[in-house]
Amino acid sequence: MSATGTESKPSPISGLGLFATRAFAAGERITAYRGALLKTPPAVCTPGQPTYLLEISPGLWLDGSTPENPARHANHSCLPNSELILDTAAGQPWLVAFRAIVANEEITFDYGFSLAESLFHPCKCGAKDCVGRIIAAPLRPALRRHLRFSRRRD
Ligand SMILES: [Zn+2]
Repeated sequence: MSATGTESKPSPISGLGLFATRAFAAGERITAYRGALLKTPPAVCTPGQPTYLLEISPGLWLDGSTPENPARHANHSCLPNSELILDTAAGQPWLVAFRAIVANEEITFDYGFSLAESLFHPCKCGAKDCVGRIIAAPLRPALRRHLRFSRRRD
């Protein structure tokens, strides 16, 4: 069992996922999300490639692609069990449980992608309300309306 409380292993959602090796209480820090903080928007990512670039607050991006960041394996879910929270004093983002998580559960959070980014990133999270695209929760109703409209035309 990992001392850190998480391990990376194949995920039913996508590629490698991040899994709890023990239970976490709601509000508990699961793991640090390491990487460079960038003040300028990163180059557009390659469609179909995993992306570890996240806008964690307006105008602040986090590049979690480094191998020292096992938390980068955490997948997006439309019904996530954790959230990425920036400890502003320490300048360190953390994955924090927002509900109780049991051992062996996959750790997921909302990547918070824009509508443009979502077009290149299908979501296979399997949640009942999965919108089919990786997109920030507040944008999902608009995307859903858009997709309904698109379907009606064809
Ligand atoms: Zn989904």
